[in-house]
Amino acid sequence: MDVTTNPKDFQKQCLSLRGQGLTTALVPTMGYFHQGHLSLMDYARENADKVMVSLFVNPSQFGPGEDLDKYPHDFERDAGLAQKHGVDILFAPQADSMYEKDHETWVEVPRLAEHLCGKSRPVHFRGVATIVTKLLMLALPTMAVFGKKDWQQLAIIKRMVRDLNIPVRIEGRPIFREDDGLAMSSRNVYLTEEERAQAPAIRKGLLKIRDMAAAGEKNAKALMQSLEKIYAETLPLGRTDYINVVDSESIQPVDEITGKALIAVAVFMGKARLIDNCLIEV
Ligand code: AMP
Repeated sequence: MDVTTNPKDFQKQCLSLRGQGLTTALVPTMGYFHQGHLSLMDYARENADKVMVSLFVNPSQFGPGEDLDKYPHDFERDAGLAQKHGVDILFAPQADSMYEKDHETWVEVPRLAEHLCGKSRPVHFRGVATIVTKLLMLALPTMAVFGKKDWQQLAIIKRMVRDLNIPVRIEGRPIFREDDGLAMSSRNVYLTEEERAQAPAIRKGLLKIRDMAAAGEKNAKALMQSLEKIYAETLPLGRTDYINVVDSESIQPVDEITGKALIAVAVFMGKARLIDNCLIEV
């Protein structure tokens, strides 16, 4: 596995792979790998000739007071795991090599960022869309692989790639979970033992709402209120940031569910903010 820190070198390597007619897959990450990240790398390994993983804690997607400075990291461990999972190039740039001092250009997908995490974290998706565009322009991959845990992010990236005619296939992969149902996240290390013991209630509540919808409850407000109530009872250490039922592509709120919708939640627990989601069908 090559470890590359310089963006221009990375681009040269990727251009050379393309020139050889090889298919390539990029997996963008912020590191501190868990099974969720590794499942994306495995998918990339199975579906492309060469696999690139970027490891970059992108400052522009963090707002003031968020956990940019505290974001967990362990480069040696990550590099070992990437190598074990067959990654060909690990791209790990420094922030000042990715953003010039006078960086001016931003990519925004404003309507898809209006609700859910975009509402709670106003600069977040502008940072995400910009860094993913930059990574795609450097790696020029055949495909790029993302997790459905960050459903809104995936929807934004798909729309951005379509709108800007970026020649890449975007692949969304299932949420990888702990045995008790908690969605894996680098931020789970922030949880105390007590918080960790309660956190699976996030998923359990979502499944109850999915069952309610499957049993015929079409009213989004009723579903959201039920989940709020479930969390009040089962997640006393949590504080709900949002519970929302949205269209799974436009990420706009829906009142009545016709067919499919997405229920998405964010919950503050101690130092962590945890997100999860579930497709519901009536
Ligand atoms: P991050 O390092 O948190 O920015 O995540 C990098 C990629 O891994 C993103 O596409 C995430 O959606 C994806 N990811 C994070 N957690 C999970 C998970 N539990 N299951 C599947 N994919 C995940």
